[in-house]
Amino acid sequence: MAVKKQIVMSGIRPTGFLHLGNYFGALRNYVRMQEEYECFFMVADLHSLTTHPDTKELKLNVHRVLSENIACGLDPDKVALYCQSHIHETAELYLYLNMLAYKGELEKTTTFKDKARLQPDNVNAGLLTYPVLQTADIILHRASLVPVGKDQEQHLEMARNFVNRFNHRYGEVFPEPRAFNYGSELVKVPSLDGAGKMSKSENQLATLYLSDDDEQIRKKVKKAKTDTGPSKPHSPKPDYIENIFLLMKLVSSEEIINKFENAYTNCTIRYGDMKEQLAEDMIQFISPIREKANAIRNDENYLKEIMEKGAEKARKSARATMKLVRQAMGLNY
Ligand code: ADP
Repeated sequence: MAVKKQIVMSGIRPTGFLHLGNYFGALRNYVRMQEEYECFFMVADLHSLTTHPDTKELKLNVHRVLSENIACGLDPDKVALYCQSHIHETAELYLYLNMLAYKGELEKTTTFKDKARLQPDNVNAGLLTYPVLQTADIILHRASLVPVGKDQEQHLEMARNFVNRFNHRYGEVFPEPRAFNYGSELVKVPSLDGAGKMSKSENQLATLYLSDDDEQIRKKVKKAKTDTGPSKPHSPKPDYIENIFLLMKLVSSEEIINKFENAYTNCTIRYGDMKEQLAEDMIQFISPIREKANAIRNDENYLKEIMEKGAEKARKSARATMKLVRQAMGLNY
């Protein structure tokens, strides 16, 4: 008998260009997981409404994220690649889960507090219940593995709480989902200025986007914060220098990394050279993805076809889950 594959689910919001954090925190895992698991990956357009209520650019952004997902190596024939708003069952499950989520725990969520601070005039209920909608997205496919970056760890913990509450009250329907990364730890790609993480909508000058052209990459990397270098051998690295090494480890060869590590240890490091090298290695990494994404983005018919095919796969799985949910909840009269 064939062993049933574990189910994987994750998503990225269409709030701007994808960046290295999205790639190394999420996409790199997606691409590997598609070979081993049954995967559902979505463009989280409903989530983007919590912070970006203006929908004028939404279609363009959805197309962009889809193209970038495919350019990074996602194969729409192997996975369900779809748009969140095309799966209406999500809204129903979100509603049921909202009855199991408490105001107090939602208000304590770090991302809610951060976002409420950033947009004090628009602290909407969707922002507060973001982790509930995210849980609905995941468990709609009864997924157990969720490839995400470190910033999502707390949301996954909340998802497990909601799942356990549901299962306890209505019967075992859902597996517990957990954050997943192929390495030993979840990834956080720091911004070039060392203040926080790379992000789609914040800190754009210190974020490297998969759409940046070669000159933009050189300019941004050049501006990364450094100092005059260590004055004693084997000095500990300040955070912002550690970050540059971390970025280098993502894209440069071992030989190059070792060269700069040794130079740091014996105080001969020249940060200008290091940043030049880093910029060239970033360009080698980013430019093929950029070119591929641009070509895909221009083919609207292809993108539409993919979204429809992906939505069909996702709806099939969503319908099966909702049948179980309604039965378990006794909503079957
Ligand atoms: P953003 O924060 O850039 O708007 P999303 O909220 O759409 O990105 O997150 C999409 C995925 O990318 C999530 O799995 C998230 O954990 C991951 N991610 C976002 N930024 C980073 C980062 N700087 N480092 C690692 N992973 C990240």
